[in-house]
Amino acid sequence: MPAELIDGKLVSALWLDKLAERVRSLEARGVRPHLAVVLVGEDEASQIYVRNKERACERIGIASTVIRLPADAGQQALEDRVRALNADPAVHGILVQLPLPGPLQEEPILALIDPDKDVDGFHAVNMGRLFGGMPALVPCTPKGCMALLEHYGIPLSGKEAVVVGRSNIVGKPMAVLLTQANATVTVCHSRTRDLAAHCRRADILVAAIGRPRFITADMIKPGATVIDVGINRVDGKVVGDVDFDAAREVAGAITPVPGGVGRMTIAMLLSNTLDAAERSLS
Ligand code: NDP
Repeated sequence: MPAELIDGKLVSALWLDKLAERVRSLEARGVRPHLAVVLVGEDEASQIYVRNKERACERIGIASTVIRLPADAGQQALEDRVRALNADPAVHGILVQLPLPGPLQEEPILALIDPDKDVDGFHAVNMGRLFGGMPALVPCTPKGCMALLEHYGIPLSGKEAVVVGRSNIVGKPMAVLLTQANATVTVCHSRTRDLAAHCRRADILVAAIGRPRFITADMIKPGATVIDVGINRVDGKVVGDVDFDAAREVAGAITPVPGGVGRMTIAMLLSNTLDAAERSLS
C-alpha cells in the first residue's frame, strides 16, 4: 500500500486560519503585526520567495514591507537598513533574504538583527536559546517539519530519527527539535560512512541535502516516516531529495515536493512574526 501523504498544503492552510485569529486578537489590542523583508539584488528565486512571503502575510492580515536594495548597495547601506528596522517599534519581524549577492557578508548582517525580531531564527542568540531549551524564534523549516509530524500524530518519543544534512538552518536545528521530542537522533552528512545503513534504521528520516532524488527506496525502512526538505530544480521541475515515487511504495508516510515542507516554512515564518509581535507587548 502506498505511504500516507503528509499534506503540507492542508496543514499550512489550517495553520494560517489559526494565525489569522492571532492577528485579529493582536489588532484588538492595537497592534498591527508587521514583517519587514530586505531583498538585495535581482536573484529570480529570491524574488519569488519574497513575493510568496508577501502574499502569505496579506492573506492573514500581517503588514509586510519589502525593502529592495541594488546588488551593489554595499555592506554599510545594508547594515544601516537593518539598524533602522531594529529601532522601528512598528516592525516586529525582520528577514534578510538569503543568499546575499556578490561580496556582501551574511554573518555580520544576521548578527545585527535584533534577536527578538529575528523571525528566521538564524541569530546566534536564538540558536543558543533553542539549544538550551529556552523559548526561541526557531528556524522556520525545521519548525514546519515538527508541525507536520505533530499534525499527523507521528510518535517521536523513543524512535530512531535520522537527519541527513547538518546546515545551521535545517539539519542542526531539526536534530535539536527531534531530540527535545525524545527521539534518538543521528545526524548524517557528506562524510558519513555507509549513509544507507544509517537511513535504513530510521523510523523518521529527514532529508535536507540539496541533491535531487538522492534518497532511494532501498535506503528507507518499511513503514518509516519520510520528511523531504529538498527543493531542487530538474528540467524545469521542482523535485525533492527523495525519490518520491519509489519511496512512497516503502514508507509509511511521506511529504511530497512541492506541497510538503515548503508550504510549512512560510506558515512558520508568519507564526514567528506573531510570536515576536505578541512578545513585544509583554
Ligand atoms: P546545505 O547545502 O547548507 O546543506 C546540505 C547538507 O547536506 C550538508 O550538511 C551536507 O554535508 C549534506 N550533504 C551533501 N551531500 C551529501 C551526501 N552525498 N551525503 C550526505 N550528506 C550530504 O543545504 P540546506 O540545509 O540549506 O538545504 C538543504 C535542502 O533543503 C536544499 O535542497 C534546499 O533548497 C532545501 N531547503 C528547503 C526549504 C523549504 O522550505 N522546503 C528551506 C531551506 C532549504 P556537509 O555538511 O558534510 O557538507
